[in-house]
Amino acid sequence: MNRYRIGYGEDIHRLVEGRKLILGGVEIPYEKGLLGHSDADCLLHALMDSLLGGLALGDIGVYFPPDDPAYEGADSCRLLLKVKELVDESPYAISNIDLLLFAERPKLNPYREAIRQNIASLLGLSLDQIGFQAMSNEGLDAVGRGEAIRAVSTVLLERKEND
Ligand code: MG
Repeated sequence: MNRYRIGYGEDIHRLVEGRKLILGGVEIPYEKGLLGHSDADCLLHALMDSLLGGLALGDIGVYFPPDDPAYEGADSCRLLLKVKELVDESPYAISNIDLLLFAERPKLNPYREAIRQNIASLLGLSLDQIGFQAMSNEGLDAVGRGEAIRAVSTVLLERKEND
């Protein structure tokens, strides 16, 4: 069995009026929010896909089908806790996570510590295991026009000592 496994996840959601903006489980005051079947938290979606991908367990669409009414408006923090159970049942533990958020507006760096703290407490990790960077998209493509927010997550998983 490999000692290390790496996982990568990516997600993008459209910004629309009349929705809350929730990123990393933190509600961010803004005139628009992300459109989606669940709460559309693209950062937690990318994170979940990186964990599932790293363990070769599929993707979040397998576990939380977008056409299942049970997940309408779902709190993505709750979904992340289910993915954490899958990680906990596996022979691997999270070594570190690196998160990137691309948004033209609003500026997300002021929420960096709240987002890191929330993810750390959900996953039972320490803050130094969670990297976070927020950046603009230099005015390019749909993200740059302020029509969407994109998230990327990379995770390193390490085999537990006694497995
Ligand atoms: Mg998504």
